[in-house]
Amino acid sequence: AYLDNIKSQDEVIGAYLHVAEESAIASANRVDEKRRKGEALHPLSGLPMAIKDNICTKGMPTTCASKMLEGYQSPFDATVVKLLKEADAVVLGKVNMDEFAMGASTENSYYKKTRNPVDTDRVPGGSSGGSAAAVAAHMATYTLGSDTGGSVRQPASFCGVVGLKPTYGRISRSGLIAFASSLDQIGPLGRSVEDVAAVYKMLAKHDEMDSTSGPDEALSIDALLGKSVKGMRVALPTAFFSEGIQIEVKEAVLHAAKVFESMGAIVEEVSLKAIDAALPAYYLISSAEASSNLARFDGVKYGYRTDDFQSIEELYKRTRGEGFGREVKRRILLGTYALSSGYYDAYYQKALKIRTMILREYTQLFERYDFVLSPVAPSTAFKFGEHGKSPVEMYLGDIYTVPVNIAGLPGLSINCGFDQNHMPIGLQLIGKAHDEATLLSAGFAFE
Ligand code: GLN
Repeated sequence: AYLDNIKSQDEVIGAYLHVAEESAIASANRVDEKRRKGEALHPLSGLPMAIKDNICTKGMPTTCASKMLEGYQSPFDATVVKLLKEADAVVLGKVNMDEFAMGASTENSYYKKTRNPVDTDRVPGGSSGGSAAAVAAHMATYTLGSDTGGSVRQPASFCGVVGLKPTYGRISRSGLIAFASSLDQIGPLGRSVEDVAAVYKMLAKHDEMDSTSGPDEALSIDALLGKSVKGMRVALPTAFFSEGIQIEVKEAVLHAAKVFESMGAIVEEVSLKAIDAALPAYYLISSAEASSNLARFDGVKYGYRTDDFQSIEELYKRTRGEGFGREVKRRILLGTYALSSGYYDAYYQKALKIRTMILREYTQLFERYDFVLSPVAPSTAFKFGEHGKSPVEMYLGDIYTVPVNIAGLPGLSINCGFDQNHMPIGLQLIGKAHDEATLLSAGFAFE
């Protein structure tokens, strides 16, 4: 049925970069076989799902939606893919994204446009736009995305589905092609908080292949979803509702706060001062790390290589000049500049200080509150090309999501209403590190 949905809808939606029909049917048959024999099955076994194309999969392409990795096949599976296979997931294929996960609309994909299933004149968000669109259009039961500065939460909000960015270190990054290693985290997207919790439980495992991987925790779905909101203390940062926010988004989030109050939570307005500096700090840190991480794409080891070179220097230059798109080049240039001697202290070092300030402010907040309520994005899904004029305009849309990555915290994006064009509005719940249970329980109660 899911393969049929892909066939009938994906020509218009464009969520998939690769559909693995044969292997999907083979794994579905294997699950059937196990069921017939009465073998024990994982609760998620047999569920058809899809994977963002920056997560390495053996036997399928992994392109990061870049010309640089056109036709590239990873020789190994990412840890999350191994866990999916152990659970007998049915992998339907790989889904579209902004090139190397840089962007917020999936318009930066080298291969194709992905349309928002709610209104196909609008973007699905990004960078995990294919992951969100596939879930929204019933072309996967759930998907995996990656979130460096909002890329799971914002597309989930634009397409009206649920997305979780776990605490940094909860899900292994081994086999996730790095954008900014200190911020990147894989996260699930699904139709409900319950679904997302089940996928999170399957993937949140210690992994010795990722040196930042946290310890194993005993997670039960009951514990993840069962906490009562009654008596919980909720912070509502006033700084999140000042300028530049679509009025309907503001109203829907403030209404959500009232809903939590009616369920017995105590909601209080708070100030978050360092938040103003989060966006520039994020773009410096993420670009600095990207400039280093993407140095490996040089035409020697992976993917694309220019045809036209006389020297090794020319091989590097032309391969990178031809293989990377505009946004990726912009970030590499910005990052290289920020890290260069003479500017290091003025930019990178300063950004790290802001990072510490933001972390400290959140830590203090969480001494008094169980979670923070915020919008996911200042607006609902916009039309194609609308934010394409200046890159900074697109960057401004990340204001509510990047602080969470900077501080390594978990963030959950759930629907809290619709604007006058019937576009979904996202509500973000931000929690203490390693306290996904509070977010998921509160989200579950709200839903
Ligand atoms: N929109 C942000 C950026 O372009 C976030 C991307 C992400 O989380 N991968 O960097």
